[in-house]
Amino acid sequence: IERIAVITSGGDAPGMNAALRAVVLAAEHDGIDVVGFRHGYEGLLNNDYMKLGRDEVEHILQYSGTIIKSARSERFKTDEGGIEAAHNLDAQNVDAFIVIGGDGSFRGANHLAKFWQGPIIGIPGTIDNDLFGTDNTIGYDTAVETAMDALDKIRDTAEAMDRVFIVEVMGRNAGYIAISSAMASGAERMILPELQKDKPLTIDALVKHVEGVNRVRGDSSYVMVLCENQWPGGAVRLAEQLEDRLNFPCRPCLLGHVQRGGRPTAMDRILATRLGVYAVQLVQEGITGVMAGIEKNELVTTPLEDTWVKRKVLSQELIDIQTKCFNPIKKDRHKA
Ligand code: ATP
Repeated sequence: IERIAVITSGGDAPGMNAALRAVVLAAEHDGIDVVGFRHGYEGLLNNDYMKLGRDEVEHILQYSGTIIKSARSERFKTDEGGIEAAHNLDAQNVDAFIVIGGDGSFRGANHLAKFWQGPIIGIPGTIDNDLFGTDNTIGYDTAVETAMDALDKIRDTAEAMDRVFIVEVMGRNAGYIAISSAMASGAERMILPELQKDKPLTIDALVKHVEGVNRVRGDSSYVMVLCENQWPGGAVRLAEQLEDRLNFPCRPCLLGHVQRGGRPTAMDRILATRLGVYAVQLVQEGITGVMAGIEKNELVTTPLEDTWVKRKVLSQELIDIQTKCFNPIKKDRHKA
């Protein structure tokens, strides 16, 4: 292997730069050149690349975003797109390809493999933590930290004003950010896809819970963490519906893209560094079509397709613990 190409693709995640840096430094250590194509697969089609060496990556690991930009590309999904991308990699004498992104980006990697023969490795970079084959994805820990920080601040005002807050967090179809930030901030309730699929919550059940919690505690501060896509109309609609039924103000708060920025946590920087270096090792071993991940603190590989076909299961223990923390009925019994 003499030359590796790398892209960051799909939604950006804190720690992508750290992963990029690790790929470049590990490759340089082994005498391998690295080129970064800008704007994900779109840059691969446009032949928009830059050489990446120590100078380009030396002081980027503490910043979110990605110095080679990220993007989505519809054109790449076609056969013509795949053929064009393969052609451009060959034109730049690229021997191996590393993609840092989420499941869509890995589907893209498998698409590329139909037209290009070199080793292809995925590095999990998404805040959603929804990829099978790694305990954590790069960016997830930072997103939870950001959400927790916001929830702490919302608690201050909720307490002062006796308010109900519905805080919507990201996660796409996975409740990882929601459950972790709810647990870390002591939220009264969470709405997660993992809980919604068997027995979707009703507005009646939520009203009962808010009233129950407030009756036990004697005040009306109540913070609910809502995972995106889990309530029709999201936090705004849910806050309206609750306010119609309750005697105190209910406010929505959408954290949105703040969850994708900020200084990556130490955990994310370390994860990104380990996976970046590991990915370079894998391509040199001729391994292809897998994602580099970490399970139980061990480096592991998982076939790319398994990362989205097999579903990572949110720990029932976590759900049970968080559910027990706010059960007003049990508290009532305790008082009696
Ligand atoms: P995140 O989950 O954080 O948003 P992601 O990697 O899942 O990240 P996507 O937008 O789903 O983000 O995918 C990124 C890009 O990967 C797409 O814009 C497209 O270029 C490519 N891609 C996605 N799915 C496919 C597919 N089925 N075939 C070929 N390319 C794909």
